[in-house]
Amino acid sequence: MQLDVPTLMLTLGLGYLLFAWQLVLVRRRLKSDRALALWAKGCVFLLAGMVALLSRLVLPEWVAALVGNPLVLCGMLYFNQAIYLFVGKQATPKWVTGLVVAAIVAAPVLLAWPVSTRSMVYSGVMMLLSGAIALHVFRHAWHAESTMRAVGWTMLLLSVAHAGRSVQAGLMPDQYQSFFQSSVGQGIVVLLAFLALLGSGMGFVLACLERTAKSMEFLASHDALTGCLNRRSFDPLCTHEVARSHRSGEPLALLLLDLDHFKRVNDLHGHRSGDLVLQGFARRVQARLRSADVFARLGGEEFAVLLPDTDLAGALSVADYLCRSVAGTPVRLADDEVFELTVSLGVAMLAPERHGRKAAKTATAASLSPELLYMRADQALYQAKRQGRNRVVVWEEDAAAERDVRAAA
Ligand code: GH3
Ligand code: MG
Ligand code: MG
Repeated sequence: MQLDVPTLMLTLGLGYLLFAWQLVLVRRRLKSDRALALWAKGCVFLLAGMVALLSRLVLPEWVAALVGNPLVLCGMLYFNQAIYLFVGKQATPKWVTGLVVAAIVAAPVLLAWPVSTRSMVYSGVMMLLSGAIALHVFRHAWHAESTMRAVGWTMLLLSVAHAGRSVQAGLMPDQYQSFFQSSVGQGIVVLLAFLALLGSGMGFVLACLERTAKSMEFLASHDALTGCLNRRSFDPLCTHEVARSHRSGEPLALLLLDLDHFKRVNDLHGHRSGDLVLQGFARRVQARLRSADVFARLGGEEFAVLLPDTDLAGALSVADYLCRSVAGTPVRLADDEVFELTVSLGVAMLAPERHGRKAAKTATAASLSPELLYMRADQALYQAKRQGRNRVVVWEEDAAAERDVRAAA
C-alpha cells in the first residue's frame, strides 16, 4: 500500500483549516464556548504545524522540524485543554503540559538525531498526548454527552497508531530515512490523524451541542432562581400523577405552600434578601422530599409539592414538618439581619375509596381532575391565610360548602 505522505498531510492541514473556520462560526452560539475556542486554537496550531512540516519541500529541513513539531505539539496541548475543561472543568494535568514543554525545549537537540529516532520520539509524545484525551473521556465522560465517545475512540485510535509508528521507527529505521518517505507506518498515521480530526472534532462539537440542548431543556423546565421545576413542567406532571393515581388506586397529595408576608422581606431588606430567602426555602423543602415527589415554584413565593402514593397522614406529616421547620429556623438575610419566616400550606387529597379513613370524605369524584385538585389545595391555602397564617389546612368538603353558603349570603 503506497500512501503519498505530503498529499495526505496537505489534506489533513486543509481539514484543520476548514474545521477551525467552522468552529469560529459556531462558537458564539454554543455553551462551553471556551472549550470550543481551545479546540479551534488546537486546529489552527495543527494547521500551522502541517504547513511548517510540509515547508521542507522548499525550506531547509531544520526550519521545518524546528517550527512544525512544536506547533503540532501545542495543537495537541490545546485539544487536551479543551477536553479537560469540557469534561469536569479540570485543568490539564501537569504531566501533559510538562511533556509538551520538554519536547519543545528538546527540539533543537533532537535535530542532531536521525529522522527515524526523531519520528520515534515525537510519535511517542503524540501517543501520550492523544492517549491522555482518550483516557480522560473514557474515565469521566462515558455517561455524559454520548457523542464524546467518538472523541475517546478516535483519540485512542490515534494513540495506538502513533505507538505503532514509534515502534516501527525504532525497529525499522530504514523505512524512516526521510520525513516524506512513503512507508505503511507513516501513511497510516497521517490517515488516522485525518480520521481523528473528523471523528473527535465532530464528536466534540456534537457534544457541545448536546450540552447546550440539555441546558436549554433544563432552563425551559426549571425555575432559574431556585432550581426547582417551574409551572410549565409542573402542570403536565400533575396531570400525569392524577391519572396514575386514578389508575393505580394509590392516594396522591397536593400541597400548596405560600410564604407569609413575604413582601415585607423585600420591602424591609431588599430584593436580594428576598431571593436568598426563596432559595433557602426551596432547599429546605427539597431536602425533606423523596426522589419521586414533585416540587415546583408556581410563581413568586408560591410553591407546590405533589406526593405520589401518599395518604393524608403522610401528607400531613410532610406539611407539618415543613411548616414547623420554617417557623423554627429564622433566616439570616443579605444585610445580616435575622428574619422570622413562616409559611402557610393548603393540602388537597386524591384518595381513592380504599385508602384511609378520610378518603370517602375527600375523594368524592373518582375522576377528580387536576384542576379541581389544584383548586381545592388553593382553597385550603386561602383558608390557612385567613385563619392567621403559619399553619396547615386540609381541604374538606364541609368547609367548602360552608364557604359557598357564606359567599351566597
Ligand atoms: P401573604 O402572607 O398574604 O402571602 O403576603 P405576601 O406578602 O407573601 O404576598 P404578596 O402576594 O402580597 O407578595 C408577594 C411578594 O413576593 C411580592 C413580590 O415582590 C415578591 N416576589 C415575587 N417573586 C419574587 C422573586 O423572584 N424574588 C423576590 N425577591 N421577591 C419576589
Ligand atoms: Mg405570600
Ligand atoms: Mg402569594
